[in-house]
Amino acid sequence: MNVVLLGPPGAGKGTQAKTLAEQSGLVHVSSGDLFRAALREGTELGMRAKGYMDKGELVPDEVVIDMILERISQPDCAGGVIFDGFPRTVEQAKALEAALLRHQQRVDRVIYMSVPGEVLLKRIAGRRTCKSCGAVFNVYYFPPKTADGCDVCGGELYQRSDDTEETARNRLEVYFQQTTPLIDYYRGQGTLNEVDGEQEISVVTDAMVAALGLPSKA
Ligand code: AMP
Repeated sequence: MNVVLLGPPGAGKGTQAKTLAEQSGLVHVSSGDLFRAALREGTELGMRAKGYMDKGELVPDEVVIDMILERISQPDCAGGVIFDGFPRTVEQAKALEAALLRHQQRVDRVIYMSVPGEVLLKRIAGRRTCKSCGAVFNVYYFPPKTADGCDVCGGELYQRSDDTEETARNRLEVYFQQTTPLIDYYRGQGTLNEVDGEQEISVVTDAMVAALGLPSKA
């Protein structure tokens, strides 16, 4: 099964994708995480993406598409993927479809996480990520138990450089202009499920598990 998580920055796609991947055995593929890893490693891909990410703009389609297609061609992805942050344009969605079709696969389910605009900025500004294990917290909604440490592994927490208010505003603007057309695109294909992403994390997870027809954990 291949699943796309669709929704604005700050909707909680990364948090939910991690849980769903653990619960389903599908592989979590996050385009943002892949770019951040490339940046850390100082690769050419990271250098190409940096300027766009710093401004909160989309990295050009061909760069993202090449990166994702390369990632999903690896053997661990053969059993299915949870896509987080990809596709973000109709062009990317079409490229993904074509690539999956070559392996007699498709995007089976799209989960659109809707969250009102005014909540998103606070969610983005409050987000803190663990440097070691990637766990995500939020100082307003889901604070770590110790001030600056990760509850999972004790690692140091940091704020993403593109989570500052100015860049976050631009990312939201870009989302509404370039990514929201995907909602109708997937609705037209009959694969879209909408989940209210403003609810508590565990309630959102339960709704997603139900939408995907996964066995419930309880
Ligand atoms: P994210 O972690 O998903 O919020 O992504 C962080 C940044 O990486 C975005 O603001 C974009 O600059 C870039 N990025 C991630 N995924 C994509 C994508 N599918 N298309 C274009 N740019 C992307």
